[in-house]
Amino acid sequence: SDLVRDEVHELAPYNSGLTVREVNERYGPAKIAKLASNENPLGPSPDLDSITMADSDLLRLYPDPAGVELREAIAVALDVASTQIILGNGSEELISIICRAVLRPRDRVVTLYPSFPLHEDYAALMGASVERVNVKGNMSVDVDTFEKKIATPARMVIFSNPMNPVGSWLAPAELSRVIAAADKNTLIVVDEAYAEYAAGEDYVSAIDLLKGSRRPWVVLRTMSKAYGLAGLRIGYGVVADPEFRSLLDRVRTPFNVNAIAQVSAVKALADRQHLQRVVTLAASERQRVQAFLLANDWPVAASKGNFLFFDCAGNAADFAEGLLRYGVIVKPWKQAGYETFVRVSVGSPDENNQFMSAVLSLTSQDV
Ligand code: PMP
Repeated sequence: SDLVRDEVHELAPYNSGLTVREVNERYGPAKIAKLASNENPLGPSPDLDSITMADSDLLRLYPDPAGVELREAIAVALDVASTQIILGNGSEELISIICRAVLRPRDRVVTLYPSFPLHEDYAALMGASVERVNVKGNMSVDVDTFEKKIATPARMVIFSNPMNPVGSWLAPAELSRVIAAADKNTLIVVDEAYAEYAAGEDYVSAIDLLKGSRRPWVVLRTMSKAYGLAGLRIGYGVVADPEFRSLLDRVRTPFNVNAIAQVSAVKALADRQHLQRVVTLAASERQRVQAFLLANDWPVAASKGNFLFFDCAGNAADFAEGLLRYGVIVKPWKQAGYETFVRVSVGSPDENNQFMSAVLSLTSQDV
């Protein structure tokens, strides 16, 4: 309808994939391995079991609109000021908040490609013009081209590290180069949804590089992945300075993070042991699934996330559809140029076995 802005008409619907219920409805009840949204097979810390909704004001009252307790817990964990922390209903809401607060029509936004689609979508919705830096043939980040693109001032540079859907990452020296190359007025947004999986050798959080810098920046994190709380919708951003944060904060809805989410996130952050279990399992299972894909002669990108991105050498949508019959949900990539690529999340050992045997059954049918 003419009522709706052109930018909305042009927006592709977000591809959130099938739910377990939808697959059961289509193919009958079965054990489903949902490996399409990078969820965490171990779920959240068992400490959350003690949260009871029954006899508290958790449900009756509005949540703390400022999320003070959670912001303080995050600030302590990251060694930043709590006045630098903004909370979101998932980090996807924070991407939207940043775009709405910052972008004017025709602004230049530079991003890596293939990308988390919302990095582009929310920018496009504001009328900004998005420029992509494609990965190299081996699926690593093309840092030289990235540097050149952002040497010309842009309003915003936004990318994930580790990079969804590929799993590639910018090594510490590369990330430093990118930060140094961006104009001092360009907002740098680093989406670190998978940082907990990558922590350690050859990976540094942009928070460590940008902390104390006077340039505009935001680093996004989420409780949906390594903390296993995707269903509760909690993301957070570390923002360059308190003044910038309070401006971004005006754009969000006042009670965006619900009360159960806030108390759960505080408990989840405190359980470092559980986080370590999650990360250790993801690393060993990722290696196992990657070896399987390579043995099938499918090019697969090196990954520091809880997922793998591979070229199935055929139509990825058909491949994913075929796997549904075996109760396995994966994500066929839809962005131009990557129609033969599939992103599969690293699940539990059982789920990964189900994925691998489904692939073997499917490919033996093909011949
Ligand atoms: N950023 C990236 C790179 C992601 O992969 C995702 C989830 N797929 C998100 C942000 C959004 O996560 P959430 O809204 O659950 O925090």
